[in-house]
Amino acid sequence: MECDVAVIGSGPAGIQAAIHAARRKVSVVIIGKPQNSAMAGARIENYFGIPGAMNGDMILKNGVGQAKIFGCTVMEKNIIAASNVGEKFSLTTEDDEEIIAKAVIIATGISRKGLNVPGEKTLYGKGVSYCAVCDCGFYKGKTVVIVGDETEAAVSAELMTRYASKVYWVYRTIDASRNVVAKAENAGVKMINSGIKSIVGSDRVESVILENGDTIPTDGVFIELGAKSSADIATDLDVIPQMDDSIKVNDRCETDVAGVFACGDVTGKPWQVARAVGQGCVAGTSAAEYVKGVKE
Ligand SMILES: Cc1cc2nc3c(=O)[nH]c(=O)nc-3n(C[C@H](O)[C@H](O)[C@H](O)COP(=O)(O)OP(=O)(O)OC[C@H]3O[C@@H](n4cnc5c(N)ncnc54)[C@H](O)[C@@H]3O)c2cc1C
Repeated sequence: MECDVAVIGSGPAGIQAAIHAARRKVSVVIIGKPQNSAMAGARIENYFGIPGAMNGDMILKNGVGQAKIFGCTVMEKNIIAASNVGEKFSLTTEDDEEIIAKAVIIATGISRKGLNVPGEKTLYGKGVSYCAVCDCGFYKGKTVVIVGDETEAAVSAELMTRYASKVYWVYRTIDASRNVVAKAENAGVKMINSGIKSIVGSDRVESVILENGDTIPTDGVFIELGAKSSADIATDLDVIPQMDDSIKVNDRCETDVAGVFACGDVTGKPWQVARAVGQGCVAGTSAAEYVKGVKE
């Protein structure tokens, strides 16, 4: 299949990019599984204009429908290989279909690092979270456990003291600036030096069992181990990811390689829907202009 713009990723960034590119009358293919978006299964309550928690799955479904109405071809598949072919790009899907595109938008999000302990997967979305800034509002007056060694964990622990009534921070070796650690301590975070053995609960998280043998009854577990981005495709396309695996873009969402754009969580923080959608608009517009030869 040949197209003008191929968008890799079917989350809010990719879908918005596809809609904006298609609006400029270029042919657009969007490749990715919406059910694998970070937004799938999430309840979003801080998005402009939508009071209360909005259902991530519903927004994604509506977005994919809109992209189709705008004329985009939607392929719910993964890309497993990519390469530069002259001035074009070749993408290969998991079932060996090749897509040749004049421009590529990488909107692959990030994959959050997990603890790999019993209970983590089954209780994800039922008290296990990877994003304190996203889910803090659901834990007003409750008890939470933050897990992690780095700045991300310290900042999340301090943030949670403004919502939860009791905040534990479980760490192995602190690798965060003294300043942020002191802020967490001064805010009343109870620090525990241990690892997590398992997360326990039936319908929702009820407790965590520590490697030191203790049990902490809790309503939520925030796993804040930092994140590894899915930037491998970028490397295939000669875009060098940054140290943290994110992809550097300019204010037009252009990477250092002509014709390759990126948007959303894969380009860095804050990992939020509002930013993903905003960058998607910019990336889609820039890619369409690139294909049409529009110069600034
Ligand atoms: C539990 C939870 C709660 C959250 N709550 C909030 C909140 O309240 N407010 C808020 O603003 N944000 C929240 N977020 C964050 C928000 O969901 C993300 O910032 C947003 O989804 C990022 O959009 P994105 O399009 O960049 O990436 P994603 O939504 O992660 O989408 C990435 C897409 O790329 C696809 N992909 C990856 N690799 C490939 C490949 N090789 N080939 C094809 N496709 C690929 C994936 O399948 C997916 O479709 C939350 C996240 C989580 C996990």
